[in-house]
Amino acid sequence: MRALVLLAGLLMASPALADGQPVKVTWLGHATFVVKAASGTTVVIDPFITGNPKTPAEHKDLKKLQPDAILLTHSHQDHTADAVPLAKASKAKVIGAHDHIVSLDIPDEQKAGGNVGGVIAVKDLKVHLVPAMHGSSPGGRPLGVIIEFADGRKLYHTGDTWIFGDMALIQEFYAPDIILMQAGGGPYNQQPDVARKALDRFFRPSAVVPMHYGTWPVLADEAAVKKAFGDHPKAKIMTPGQTLSL
Ligand SMILES: [Zn+2]
Repeated sequence: MRALVLLAGLLMASPALADGQPVKVTWLGHATFVVKAASGTTVVIDPFITGNPKTPAEHKDLKKLQPDAILLTHSHQDHTADAVPLAKASKAKVIGAHDHIVSLDIPDEQKAGGNVGGVIAVKDLKVHLVPAMHGSSPGGRPLGVIIEFADGRKLYHTGDTWIFGDMALIQEFYAPDIILMQAGGGPYNQQPDVARKALDRFFRPSAVVPMHYGTWPVLADEAAVKKAFGDHPKAKIMTPGQTLSL
């Protein structure tokens, strides 16, 4: 009997064996990331690759990516330039704001539009759509995306945004473990020091990766991002092409 209880305990505990398995996050420059769950399920967020001056040459071949889904935070070219060719090469579903996704030149069965508050399944992952404060013309509205992994951990890609008060709700509802945070500054987005304020005020991640900087001279450079984030114990300043296990 005692052995049975022990066995039952082990069986009940077994799903937890997957807990804490690393998520592999590869930065391809700007806002483009490849996120691979421990299960192997892979998504590409905001594919701007072939024309991205910061994407290393060895990562330019779209056919090598083969994601299960492509996530688009908004319609601007620096987030979507390779969305259609990557969708055609991989047959992956494309997730984003409905009004944007319906306009894409891809087969209907690959279109997976939603809106703020929506949840879309990708194999063992759930993708939650949350607000962002930006533009998205033509098509749809700006979003952030939260990927929920099978073990409950969550990764938040902020999309392009300024700090906003509802980040408090994003923390309350999702408490993201990994944050890919827009810190690109320039004329269109929050400056690196404001991104740091958003991090300190609202979030408690185990890792935060600043992004969307250094692509062109109009944006904040790496020195400005290091100045803003360098003393944060969880900040990871990545190099395009680098992969982190988080
Ligand atoms: Zn952008």
